[in-house]
Amino acid sequence: MATGEVSVRCCIAGGGPAGMMLGLLLARAGVTVLVLEKHADFLRDFRGDTIHPSTLEVMYELGLLNEFLERPHQEVHTLGAQIGDDFVRIADFSHLPTHCRFIALMPQWDFLNFIAGQAKGHPGFQLRMEADVTSLIEEGGRVTGVQAETAEGGLTVRADLVVGADGRHSTVRTNAGLETLDLGAPMDVLWMRLSRRPTDPEQTLGRIDAGRIFVMLNRGDYWQCAFVIPKGGFERVHQAGLASFREEIVRLAPYLRDRVGELGDWSDVKLLTVAVDRLRSWHRPGLLCIGDAAHAMSPIGGVGINLAIQDAVAAANILAPAFLRGGISDEDLHAVQRRREFPTRAMQAVQVFMQNRVIGRVLKSKEKLSPPLPVRLLAQYPVLQRLPARLIGLGFRPEHVRMPRI
Ligand SMILES: Cc1cc2nc3c(=O)[nH]c(=O)nc-3n(C[C@H](O)[C@H](O)[C@H](O)COP(=O)(O)OP(=O)(O)OC[C@H]3O[C@@H](n4cnc5c(N)ncnc54)[C@H](O)[C@@H]3O)c2cc1C
Repeated sequence: MATGEVSVRCCIAGGGPAGMMLGLLLARAGVTVLVLEKHADFLRDFRGDTIHPSTLEVMYELGLLNEFLERPHQEVHTLGAQIGDDFVRIADFSHLPTHCRFIALMPQWDFLNFIAGQAKGHPGFQLRMEADVTSLIEEGGRVTGVQAETAEGGLTVRADLVVGADGRHSTVRTNAGLETLDLGAPMDVLWMRLSRRPTDPEQTLGRIDAGRIFVMLNRGDYWQCAFVIPKGGFERVHQAGLASFREEIVRLAPYLRDRVGELGDWSDVKLLTVAVDRLRSWHRPGLLCIGDAAHAMSPIGGVGINLAIQDAVAAANILAPAFLRGGISDEDLHAVQRRREFPTRAMQAVQVFMQNRVIGRVLKSKEKLSPPLPVRLLAQYPVLQRLPARLIGLGFRPEHVRMPRI
């Protein structure tokens, strides 16, 4: 595609889960769509590898599930936690009313490459990599396009609708002047990889003890690990030194002693500054934000990708018929917000409750921990494990693909 000026019905800023899924769904319904992604490829640092049952159900509804699951992945059927000396199973996905009763773990770039491959099969779909959206074009109070910087020079895109799917540091939402409500978070997360041995436990689980939370996702030959620290606490961890950090990990998972040395320097440890926020209004005339651009989620439950995809499905269900009828009204855009605001607010309320009542307290505690009553009940009555499974696996009010393929 040449630089200069192009016109499409829908221009999506950001080729993450929200933007790529919306691009696929709109193109599949016969709407011309251009996705602008600022990076040259989808190979990014770890940004979450969880494909939840609700997303797998969307793949089923699109007729893509079998092909998708041929890609290398691991399947997580239950989630557990080691609290002090006790192991408790928290969630059991085996009873979900979906075709896949598990979370699939797959690198996000594999997932995005798969979606891109499918989308390119539709004539109305275009993806432009290395295209950094820098500003919005506005005429008469309405957003009518974007300006982007590409490797070949400036690009002007005119569109009936611009969608900001450019993540938690969204340029689109900033340029649109949309107001953000910050819900706060008492923690940040340090991410790292450690190799996994055949003799290690299978289970993907959290390890929780006095002042520490450590989550380990089984990725086959390695563990994707998350070490939760108090908000703004990275400087303190850094000053205490890498040897002390390695020792903290070993205290929670002693069998990692023979490989914590793989954390050779601090570049092997990535800081995720946790933010929980949402826009008061997700739209302006000619513009809509979805995914992290509309609502950054806490990592609790690993639901950010899931919500981003659900936003895309809801947006396509509402907007594709409007595009095909003629144009997009403010009422159509508001219908997307109305549809997705409740699931977002409800999930953020659960996350904020967990952050403040559980995680914040654990991080402050000095005593050895034991499972609190609600967690003991989950262990005692396994049927209760279906509830967290539903919350994590499907979320509130799951979306279904409504638009037929053209
Ligand atoms: C370290 C880490 C771990 C996480 N772990 C999990 C997890 O286990 N499970 C989970 O569900 N979620 C997890 N998340 C959250 C998850 O990554 C996000 O919620 C999800 O990716 C949101 O999707 P999105 O498409 O809205 O935004 P993003 O995935 O952020 O995608 C936005 C895209 O827009 C592009 N972009 C940004 N600015 C521009 C611009 N100006 N022009 C063009 N393109 C632009 C970016 O390059 C990116 O590709 C994690 C996040 C991080 C950072």
